Amino acid sequence: MDRFRFPWGDERRYNANSNRIKEKYGGRIQKVSVNAGFTCPNRDGTKGIGGCVYCNNQSFTPSYCVDVEDIKGQIDKGIKFLEKRYKSPKFYAAYFQSFSNTYKPLKELRSIYSVALKHERLSGLVVSTRPDCVDDNVLDYLAELSRDYYVSIELGIESCYDDTLQWINRGHTFNDTKRAINMTAERGLEVTGHLLFGLPGESREDMLNQADILSKLPLNALKLHHLQIMKNTKLAGLYLETPAMFSLFSMEEYIEFIIRFLEKMNPDIAIERMVSEAPPAHLVNPGWGNKRADWVQKKIESVMEEKDTWQGKQFKKSQKFL
Ligand code: SF4
Repeated sequence: MDRFRFPWGDERRYNANSNRIKEKYGGRIQKVSVNAGFTCPNRDGTKGIGGCVYCNNQSFTPSYCVDVEDIKGQIDKGIKFLEKRYKSPKFYAAYFQSFSNTYKPLKELRSIYSVALKHERLSGLVVSTRPDCVDDNVLDYLAELSRDYYVSIELGIESCYDDTLQWINRGHTFNDTKRAINMTAERGLEVTGHLLFGLPGESREDMLNQADILSKLPLNALKLHHLQIMKNTKLAGLYLETPAMFSLFSMEEYIEFIIRFLEKMNPDIAIERMVSEAPPAHLVNPGWGNKRADWVQKKIESVMEEKDTWQGKQFKKSQKFL
């Protein structure tokens, strides 16, 4: 007997970005992290100094990006590392992840991205950046590249509320985010947003309501994260001084929460990730008993199955983009 299929075409209870990518591009795309020496306007004084309160780029920089001088060397080392761990993908894409990877003059960006794209094993780029670090020129250039390569832009949304963005010292507003998402999508580029749950000042209802806000935007995918407090960040200092200000998620609470969030989420927007996973050595709290993100992810899916719920179950279609 045929199993029931959800609107995104498979049996999973949410629109998994990995399946969307396979469907659209004919196979899995494996990201290879590349550290091209970018900084960020929120750290060099242009927008602010010291960065967002939770920023600790070390915690997500793979070891193969450290101490390797050139981009090609990092890609070679990264592919070797990934080949040992994962099944062969259809494509590899250079993942410019650390800091703000469009924050250089266009001439330099052209040269950095071209070095990566010249690598014989690469078929594209994934560029992570801030919403206030994209403009017409850089997006036009990326759109030009996307005629021949896979090009995806990851934008840090973090919160849809300006009060929160101010509190975390992001140095941009939610209007900047909407503008960047719309400008990226208008050019046919893949656009993924990154969102954080558990920031001080936001109630659980505030966090949930972001599903309605984001559902109206032309995003291809979302990466959802629970707030983890990392060592050597401003947030860690604030947490250790005033823990009562924080209402961090327990694992059980988060599973419950994320399912409610997914129920409200537009089923057309795929989900790339639902849980954060920082290396324990960098983490202050919450540790969730060292449960790996994959384990929590499976648990979320099994609870969705038990509850007979799915992404978009409570989604009310809205006609207009913001
Ligand atoms: S925008 Fe990113 S790199 Fe810059 S300070 Fe914030 S988290 Fe760090």
